[in-house]
Amino acid sequence: MATGAAAPDRWETVIGLEVHVQLRTRTKLFCGCPNAFGARPNAHLCPVCYGLPGALPVPNRRAVELAVLAGLALNCDIPDESVFERKNYFYPDLPKGYQITQFERPIAVNGWLSIRAGGPGDEGGGESEGREPRRIGIHRVQLEEDAGKLIHTVFPGIEDKSGVDFNRAGVPLIEVVSEPDLRSAEEAGAYARLLKSRMVFAGISDADMEKGNLRIDGNISVRERDGAELGARVELKNLNSFRYLERAIRFEEERHRSLLARGEPVAVETRLYDESKGQTEAMRTKEEAEDYRYFPDPDLPPIRLPAGLVDEQRRRLPEFPDERAARYRSEHAVAADQAERIAARREIAEYYDTALAAAVEAGSPLREAAATAARWITGDVAAREKQDGRLAVEPARLGRLLHLRTAGEIPRSAARKVFAAMCETGREAADLIAELGLDDAAEGSELDALAARLAAEHPEDREAYRAGNRKAIGAFMGRAMRELGGRAAAREVRAALERALTPEGPPDDGPPPPEAAGGE
Ligand code: ADP
Ligand code: MG
Ligand code: ZN
Repeated sequence: MATGAAAPDRWETVIGLEVHVQLRTRTKLFCGCPNAFGARPNAHLCPVCYGLPGALPVPNRRAVELAVLAGLALNCDIPDESVFERKNYFYPDLPKGYQITQFERPIAVNGWLSIRAGGPGDEGGGESEGREPRRIGIHRVQLEEDAGKLIHTVFPGIEDKSGVDFNRAGVPLIEVVSEPDLRSAEEAGAYARLLKSRMVFAGISDADMEKGNLRIDGNISVRERDGAELGARVELKNLNSFRYLERAIRFEEERHRSLLARGEPVAVETRLYDESKGQTEAMRTKEEAEDYRYFPDPDLPPIRLPAGLVDEQRRRLPEFPDERAARYRSEHAVAADQAERIAARREIAEYYDTALAAAVEAGSPLREAAATAARWITGDVAAREKQDGRLAVEPARLGRLLHLRTAGEIPRSAARKVFAAMCETGREAADLIAELGLDDAAEGSELDALAARLAAEHPEDREAYRAGNRKAIGAFMGRAMRELGGRAAAREVRAALERALTPEGPPDDGPPPPEAAGGE
């Protein structure tokens, strides 16, 4: 049993995350050195990075703008003024002996993200359909500088030494501190993934975890369910993938529960997750709060946001993929998994929007066109994109083809042939249909004649249908479509068969007929 059972159990897990996100600026937070990953160690340094006496930091306006944009993307309030403070501690990767960060007055406060994820026992990862969204509070977003990086390696000629790479020192960073509102590893994973997707989508950060652009510390405690107070907290440092975040939390959750069940206290401490062992190990105890002796940085006056800056950033806020997917579900009735796939990439979402608008413009009803567009775009269109490396068919052209489908003017097999030809030639569906000889679709009298003949040739199936077994029409559909070789739309063939099989009209009991041609 990896997590608590489905039945409500005695314990409740409480999690709060601290997520560090590097901002995508050209230069560092307080100097003109490049903010670039992967350079030779210590290539991007100046007296400000080192904190040499007399060197003065100058805030990077772009970093302030991106931090504000991040705050807005996380539904935060943005105070007019925020303050840089010094957080004092000693560490080899921190040449000044302090980190410039924010404390009393951060750049953004009181935000939230709405997640859809399962509780304990759910494996997470995708199936989010039908789950109620939960709002996770964001306490604060602070703007700060990153520290350098220790490299433990074997240098040529020098065995077993550690080096410090200061290229990362001074890289602009935001720390996003959640409220302790998360209740399971799955929720923590969903929250962190959503946060990442918003940062990437708004162009705030590359948020590449392998490059350390996004780093997560997890705080976890377990308490008696509905208890008034939070339990003793363990901080899990540097969880550098979503999977490790979830595994580390699951491990820790179980460890706390078994300690508490035995009546033993949980030590307040910082722990590290060892991926190879799949367990956490104590790193340092945190019985007493560390004293960082914060004070406002005398070299940096408070940041007063220029008039209009917040509004300007608000205008730059995109509709986020999760918001867009929710809209496709509610307004277009698109299936959740397809809505999520389409909304996840801006290019595809815009492609869908344009195709859908063209189909509706051509006369298709919105929801039918949306269902067809969503199936095609996550199906044939996605497959062709993989093959061609680009979206070969203009979206409005695809939309007009889809209209021909929803209007039942061409069968699915013909639509697929037309689509393939459109990928090659980039031309209009209507023209290609004529050229490919797909417009000699059997219709009206020919279909009726065929239906009548088949009804006469298969009396047993005919009588079964007439006796009320509506499924018996399936056998006739198969025969008719085979004879027609795709030269007619399924819904017209079905209508002709219904006419032939029941001269008085179809029986009115029984279930409605299944969708004409099934999946696109
Ligand atoms: P610190 O500054 O010591 O890291 P904070 O109060 O800023 O402590 O909290 C840091 C994070 O820990 C926040 O995300 C918060 O929600 C979370 N947190 C605080 N107490 C608990 C607790 N008892 N259990 C789980 N998470 C907690
Ligand atoms: Mg903290
Ligand atoms: Zn510098």
